[in-house]
Amino acid sequence: MVQSSILGFPRMGVNRDLKKACESYWAAKISRDELLAEGKRLRIEHWKIQQDAGVDLIPSNDFAYYDHVLDHIQMFNAIPERYSKHSLDPIDEYFAMGRGHQKDGIDVPSLEMVKWFDSNYHYVKPTFQDGQTFKLAADPKPICEFQEAKEAGIVTRPVVLGPVSFLALGKADRGQSLDPISLLDKLLPVYEELLEGLKNAGAETVQIDEPVLVFDLQPKVKAAFKPAYEKLSGTNSKIPKLVLATYFGDIVHNFDVMPAVQSLYGLHVDLVRHPEQLDSVIGQLGSQQVLSCGVVDGRNIWKTNFKHAIEIVETAIQKLGKDRVLVATSSSLLHVPHTLDSEKKLPEEVKDWFAFAVQKATEVTVIAKAVTEGPATVRDHLEANAKSMRARASSSRTNDPKVKERQQQVTEDMHNRRNPFPTRYAQQKQHLNLPMFPTTTIGSFPQTKEIRVQRNKFTKGDISADEYARFIEKEIEDNVKIQEELDLDVFVHGEPERNDMVQYFGERLDGYVFTTHAWVQSYGSRCVRPPIIVGDVSRPAPMTVKESKYAASVSKKPMKGMLTGPITCLRWSFPRDDVHQSVQAQQLALALRDEVLDLEAAGIYVIQVDEPALREGLPLRAGTEREKYLSWAVKSFRLSTAGVADSTQVHSHFCYSEFQDFFHAIAALDADVLSIENSKSDAKLLKVFVSEAYERHIGPGVYDIHSPRVPSQQEIRERIDEMLRYLRPEQLWVNPDCGLKTRGWTETKAALTNLVGAAKEFRAKY
Ligand code: GLN
Ligand code: ZN
Repeated sequence: MVQSSILGFPRMGVNRDLKKACESYWAAKISRDELLAEGKRLRIEHWKIQQDAGVDLIPSNDFAYYDHVLDHIQMFNAIPERYSKHSLDPIDEYFAMGRGHQKDGIDVPSLEMVKWFDSNYHYVKPTFQDGQTFKLAADPKPICEFQEAKEAGIVTRPVVLGPVSFLALGKADRGQSLDPISLLDKLLPVYEELLEGLKNAGAETVQIDEPVLVFDLQPKVKAAFKPAYEKLSGTNSKIPKLVLATYFGDIVHNFDVMPAVQSLYGLHVDLVRHPEQLDSVIGQLGSQQVLSCGVVDGRNIWKTNFKHAIEIVETAIQKLGKDRVLVATSSSLLHVPHTLDSEKKLPEEVKDWFAFAVQKATEVTVIAKAVTEGPATVRDHLEANAKSMRARASSSRTNDPKVKERQQQVTEDMHNRRNPFPTRYAQQKQHLNLPMFPTTTIGSFPQTKEIRVQRNKFTKGDISADEYARFIEKEIEDNVKIQEELDLDVFVHGEPERNDMVQYFGERLDGYVFTTHAWVQSYGSRCVRPPIIVGDVSRPAPMTVKESKYAASVSKKPMKGMLTGPITCLRWSFPRDDVHQSVQAQQLALALRDEVLDLEAAGIYVIQVDEPALREGLPLRAGTEREKYLSWAVKSFRLSTAGVADSTQVHSHFCYSEFQDFFHAIAALDADVLSIENSKSDAKLLKVFVSEAYERHIGPGVYDIHSPRVPSQQEIRERIDEMLRYLRPEQLWVNPDCGLKTRGWTETKAALTNLVGAAKEFRAKY
């Protein structure tokens, strides 16, 4: 019999209950026990959902109050002393590592948080010390949660992050020199103890995640698999059967570690992203080993194509037999929203194309039943599914012949500015008449409570579109006045009308739909609600011209238009799975190209196209795939911006400055000015601009906008001095790291006063 399984379930609950509980606990509005009770309620509710759907292998320990990697850090006592020394309650110590702790005389920042593979989920980075030791917590969380489920009548398959990934995803603490993977010998006994404990508690199988297998691995990391899994393999009868799970990529390039994992009970692979790896993976399996086929997408919201998924699973069955095949989600469902049932406003036609976590739970069971008992036993499901697939493929919402026609007419020329940078710059200089060390900001100004109140009133219909528009104009006028007082050089309108830099554009483009409850955890209690691209994208009308034009009309200095770039619009949405992402990016680029040209025609001669998500879209492995991505990503940016006259200045913004790996792509964007995050990074990163003889202009952020702290003029001056060691004075812009929407006005004004002051000091010198 083919069993169905899920690798992990979203934690937040149907109404972001976990977010609310955590935030209430942090604000001291509920007690620790109330928080823990809410966690338990959510876990049981989520197990029941999966049980009711008929899922055979239901995960436990996939739940986390903040982050599952952080759970492991605490469970293995890999807690840096700066957290452990305060003897906080374990849950407070846990949150201190996740989000910092500033209370009762304790002031400790959080551990570093970084993106989980190429998703928008962030995990807390294990941070190790020289001489690091490990010790299993007294009541290990996976055992407690397994027992909790058992008491509720559900036998689960616990999920544990594997030892190699746990170490490889970590780092040495500041000032420490160890290589995390060298800690393997010390860590393995703790895993053994944990796994034995799980077996004692009654767990038959455990899902052990080793997602780093999809990366290009250093030889040392690869070599760690053998000792790790020899120790934890089925030869130790005190350890449960292990299913080693990989996701978000293929593992073919790491097959040399297979002998080490062949003795494990089973292997899970992602067949949504990489169906082509199936045959070669089967060839690598041990003679008894089970294959878990990830055929239900854990990263996107589309209904599974049953016919297609069943074919894949059948291929595996033909080679392995029914008892050696599992049907599974491709990854944890952490990355998809909770349930489609919450969506009351989606058009029925479109709703029928989606499956969120609750619906995906049913999908794995239907596929498993179809291949176990025959398609006839689930005929209704299969027929409804096929009908839905056909409806989606032929819907006028997905297909817009006008968009396709326009894509066919795209020429190479449309990706190129008329002239190279020096010619353009000469004209821009004359046209914009900017001083040396020009100052600007990245786009947004503080999104005050008043702005949110008015936006809510407008959404609810309590104020008219006219009233709202007047309110926005007043905000823009105030922003302009403030920038005049600050004496900045290139102004922005401040983005008061934008709820979110992607959603705002999505709402104005055809081809998008929006949800009301489809939240996905981004980090800790923070959730995002990505819009969904369902069809060919086009721009029915200008999206930002009115506000920018108004801003320009009330200001004496150049006004910078502000757009979100095609890759960021794509990456921060749920994309289509029926056409290649490069096609979607090109459609977005064409829509933005029209917007850019409309802005120019409206008298906006500085236009910034933000691409903070360009980097996270980078394929996980170096090589052809990465180069292909960069090629179409760069092309889409160029297509959106290259239509303007030489005298119009194109800016772009990135929230990071680690360009070393792919600098050629950043240069190939051909933006006249780049603003980049730099205040947390070492100015040495700017070296790459020197070594590549980069001639265009750059504004490395001079202060960090993530904190309310006001940088002094001297501090900013020192930053600029440091930058001038790498960049030519004519090349340098002076700006903050990123947009100011999360800041308050008081610190914003103070910081920008010092920023302008520092720029003027340099102007006087040169
Ligand atoms: N223009 C946007 C802003 O200022 C850029 C945000 C970002 O880079 N994430 O808010
Ligand atoms: Zn930014």
